[in-house]
Amino acid sequence: MYSFNKIIGHSDTIKSLQNSIKSNKVSHAYIINSDDFISRDMVAQTFAKTLMCVESDVESCNDCISCKTFEHQNNPDVSYIDSEDKKSIGVEQVREKLIFDINIRPYQNKYKIYIIKDADNMTESAQNAILKTIEEPCEYIILMLLSTDYKKFLPTILSRCMLIDLKPINVDSMNKYIVDNYNKKTEDVDIYAAFSEGNISRLDNLIKSKEFTEFRNDLIEITKMFLKLDIENIMKIKKFFELNEKKYEEILNYIYIWYRDINIIKSDIGIKYLINKDKKEELEHQANEITYAYLNRIIENVQYLRENIKRNLNLKLATHVMLLNVKG
Ligand SMILES: [Zn+2]
Repeated sequence: MYSFNKIIGHSDTIKSLQNSIKSNKVSHAYIINSDDFISRDMVAQTFAKTLMCVESDVESCNDCISCKTFEHQNNPDVSYIDSEDKKSIGVEQVREKLIFDINIRPYQNKYKIYIIKDADNMTESAQNAILKTIEEPCEYIILMLLSTDYKKFLPTILSRCMLIDLKPINVDSMNKYIVDNYNKKTEDVDIYAAFSEGNISRLDNLIKSKEFTEFRNDLIEITKMFLKLDIENIMKIKKFFELNEKKYEEILNYIYIWYRDINIIKSDIGIKYLINKDKKEELEHQANEITYAYLNRIIENVQYLRENIKRNLNLKLATHVMLLNVKG
């Protein structure tokens, strides 16, 4: 059931959305952006449901006709538009589901809401088609454009929408979420929280994936190879990166987390801060084997790759350079 108090994290966003309802300053068009599909959907749907509720203001009542129909996805004043398995949302679809429908007044509510999922996949002409609706909206219209990369919107759309760019959820909320929702041992909680990086969708995938444990063990084997970066091991590591190209970011994150843990052991900060608590022995062993200088070289170079990965680097070459820099 959609309810603001059930959303994990995002408390600032929720507060400001609730304030906009309370002070009657709701916008006609929102972009809700995040690669965490679960959080993004929760925020958008809950906001829409609360706006539609006829009984209460900043939290939905769950009891009125509007709340009930909303939960069953058949509130007549809420429409969903998505790419219907196609790569993009075209102008025909937008015309049919939105433009031709928009002048019909709401049936039972104060507002009429259109939720466009993956709106950043709208073609340019589809975006142009909704521009007029955003520029001169009927007083009852609210558009919610859900996106993963808001930079894909035309500047004319961007400048006229209220942008809500959701930030990753902090580690404490993530830990609490895992304990509340999944049957996980406490020692596993940190590793799942760290690996999902504040993204509930990623967490959900991780926990459901049988391969995660296996993948993690492979990664620990990779860290063992870092102890001795001879030609053979460099080739093996490169091969692993190539075979798992789609998980490139995850691999780097994991390696980063691993050496962060080694740093904690070497600096005697305290075992309770470790993320890989269940792998303490291996961490201690590796911490004894490597020097601070070497550790810093790994952390610096891996961090550099993590920061630059989105700039369309040649990953093969970048991995090679990273390994050579670490080797020194
Ligand atoms: Zn209600």
